[in-house]
Amino acid sequence: MHISPIQLVIIGGGPAGYTAAIYAARAGLHPVLYQGPNPGGQLTITGEVENYPGYRNGITGPAMMEDFQAQAERFGTIVKTGTITNVDFATYPRRLTLDSGTSVVAQSVIIAAGASAKWLGLPAEKRLYGKGVSACAVCDGFFFRGKTVVVVGGGDTAAEESLYLANLCQKVHLLVRKDQMRASKIMQERLFKRSNIQVSFHTEVKDIIGQESIEAVETVHTLSRTITLIEATGLFVAIGHQPNTSPFLPYIEVDQQGYIQTKPGTTQTNIPGVFAAGDIQDPYYRQAVTAAGTGCMAALDAERFLKETSKDFLKKIH
Ligand code: NDP
Repeated sequence: MHISPIQLVIIGGGPAGYTAAIYAARAGLHPVLYQGPNPGGQLTITGEVENYPGYRNGITGPAMMEDFQAQAERFGTIVKTGTITNVDFATYPRRLTLDSGTSVVAQSVIIAAGASAKWLGLPAEKRLYGKGVSACAVCDGFFFRGKTVVVVGGGDTAAEESLYLANLCQKVHLLVRKDQMRASKIMQERLFKRSNIQVSFHTEVKDIIGQESIEAVETVHTLSRTITLIEATGLFVAIGHQPNTSPFLPYIEVDQQGYIQTKPGTTQTNIPGVFAAGDIQDPYYRQAVTAAGTGCMAALDAERFLKETSKDFLKKIH
C-alpha cells in the first residue's frame, strides 16, 4: 500500500515548533506537529513570562504555550503526542519513527526539538524548580530584585547570568567548581569589577535548603570540605545546555557544541527539505521570542522547498 507523505512534519512543541505550525498551516501545508517528551517545551517549567511581546501583564509559561497550541490548531495543524526517536534522512520522502514504534513519511521536516538545561542532579533542585531554582536569569531574574542569589557555573553563561543578576539583586554569589573559570577573559574582568558579585572557587552546591521556596544554599569547598550556608532566595544553574539532537545525528551536521548547523540566514540544514528552528540550532540567544522567529523562518523555508524543489525529489523516486 502506498502511504502518501505528509507535506510537513514539525518535531517539537515549543515556541519554535508552534510558530512554524501557525505559518505552515496558514499557508495550507497541513502540518503535523509531534510535541515530544515535554509538550510546551522549556517554558512549561518557567514561572511567569514577562518578556514575550504582546502579553503586557505577563503570562505563565504553560498558559502561553496553550495559546501557542490553540493558535496553531485554529488553522488546522494536527498536534500529536509522541516523540520522534529515529529518522531516515537518506531516503525521500523522509521517514520518521516514533517512540510508539510507528513511522510517518514527510516531504519536509522542521526540527524544533529544543535544548535541555543541564542540572546539578540534586533532589532539591527538582522540587524547587520554578520556586527559586532556575536556569535562565533573563526569564526569572526579575523576581529576585533586591535579594541575594547564587549562580553555579564557570563558563560564559554563568558570567553573563551573574552580570545580569547583579543589576537586579543585592548580592550575587557565583560558585565555580575549579580554581578557575572557563568564561572569556573580558567576561571575567567584568565580573570581578562588580562589587556585589562574590566569586567562590573550588565550591560546589551540596544541598538547597527550603521546602516551598529557597531559604539557603549549602556549599562545600572541594579541597577543605568545609561546609558553608549562603542565605539566598534564588539558585541559577548555568552549567550549560544540551541540544536535543540525538535522533538526528547520523544525518544532520552539528557544530562543535552539538547545535544543528544551518545555512547562514536560513533554517536549511545539510539535508534538503529538513530545517531547524529554535534552541536546537541556537546556543546563544535561547529566548522564546527568538525561537518563535526562527520557527517562522523555517515554515517559510519549508513552503518554498515544497513549492520549488520537492517535486524534483518525488520525480526521482517514481
Ligand atoms: P560551558 O560548557 O562553556 O561551561 C559550563 C560551566 O559549567 C563550566 O565552567 C563547567 O565547569 C561548569 N559545570 C559543568 N557541570 C557542572 C556541575 N555539575 N557543577 C558545577 N559546575 C559545572 O557552558 P556555557 O553555557 O557557559 O557556554 C556554552 C557556550 O556558549 C560557550 O562556548 C560559551 O562561550 C558560549 N556563550 C557565549 C556567551 C557570550 O559570548 N556572551 C554567553 C553565553 C554562552 P568546568 O569548567 O569545571 O568544566
